[in-house]
Amino acid sequence: MGPTLPAGVQPDYPLARLTTVRTGGHGEFFARPASAQQLVELLAWARAHGHEVGVVGSGSNLLVADEGVRGLVMKLDKDLAQIERDGTHLRCGGGARLPAVSARAANAGLTGIEFGVNIPGTVGGAVRMNANAYGGELARVLEHVDVATADGVERRTPERLGFAYRRSNLTHGEVVAHASFRLEPAPVEQVKATLADMRAKRKAAQPSGIKTFGSTFRNPDDPRAEGCTAGQLLDAAGCRGLRVGGAGFSEKHANFVENHGKATTADVLALMAEGRRRVHERCGVVLEPEVQTLGDVRWPDAWELAA
Ligand SMILES: Cc1cc2nc3c(=O)[nH]c(=O)nc-3n(C[C@H](O)[C@H](O)[C@H](O)COP(=O)(O)OP(=O)(O)OC[C@H]3O[C@@H](n4cnc5c(N)ncnc54)[C@H](O)[C@@H]3O)c2cc1C
Repeated sequence: MGPTLPAGVQPDYPLARLTTVRTGGHGEFFARPASAQQLVELLAWARAHGHEVGVVGSGSNLLVADEGVRGLVMKLDKDLAQIERDGTHLRCGGGARLPAVSARAANAGLTGIEFGVNIPGTVGGAVRMNANAYGGELARVLEHVDVATADGVERRTPERLGFAYRRSNLTHGEVVAHASFRLEPAPVEQVKATLADMRAKRKAAQPSGIKTFGSTFRNPDDPRAEGCTAGQLLDAAGCRGLRVGGAGFSEKHANFVENHGKATTADVLALMAEGRRRVHERCGVVLEPEVQTLGDVRWPDAWELAA
């Protein structure tokens, strides 16, 4: 018998099904904290036992190592996934789904977070990744975030979250327990029409119904890209539809990787390395991943490129 685990902590938990691309191995320990207090207790337990900590939101921009993840992986639940309205404010758990937040705001006649309708992640994942779509900016409507660590919960305003393109300053072990959005009143029908319009635009531009984690590479900030997005560079380098094992770049959007059925994380990494190599060979730009990793993900040797 191993040491006793805290209530709610499960050993050896399969993680692939918690990601949208459906690859990767098991978590050594897994828990679904239901309150900020429980979250802090779990973080303290992990620290006391020297366990690394990882959080999974909707797993919509996440690659889990095939070999699994050492330490404690958590998915926020119950109070940490609620959406509550207070006048023009929405207080959300870090595990609340962003499209549900957008829909809730629309039903309440509140505008400002419509862009979340197309981001299939959670509030916590969106804060961590500074998620954005169609010009809607998270920081513009974010009032504050409650960040949990092993020492307790600390409130941070957007200015203290170090937001940059698809980045914040949140580190491992800092978990978004709650976030509050400050919105503006607007006619319900108008907000709902905006949501419908955004959904339609997205449907035309991106593949739907596939197992993917959205953007694979960040758009480069390199003059050699000549203003092209990562998707345009991959397309020009002949990557559209390219396959490695069970993984392939989407035919509809070259910066989306698709799991065609039996892909492993290793297949995805090998595909990414090949896409990166081709773009580098063609125009000298070195693409960097947008997708986040959990566990000891092993990039293939081909990942390293000559400068
Ligand atoms: C079809 C599709 C379309 C997409 N379109 C967009 C888009 O338009 N714009 C955009 O920005 N992104 C887009 N994405 C990517 C993804 O949805 C966003 O990055 C989203 O913010 C990730 O949230 P998540 O909850 O799924 O996080 P996960 O993928 O589960 O995790 C991502 C990172 O956030 C961390 N994290 C998760 N929850 C928390 C928390 N509570 N506290 C601290 N850290 C946390 C994880 O540990 C990990 O490092 C798209 C993805 C897909 C599959």
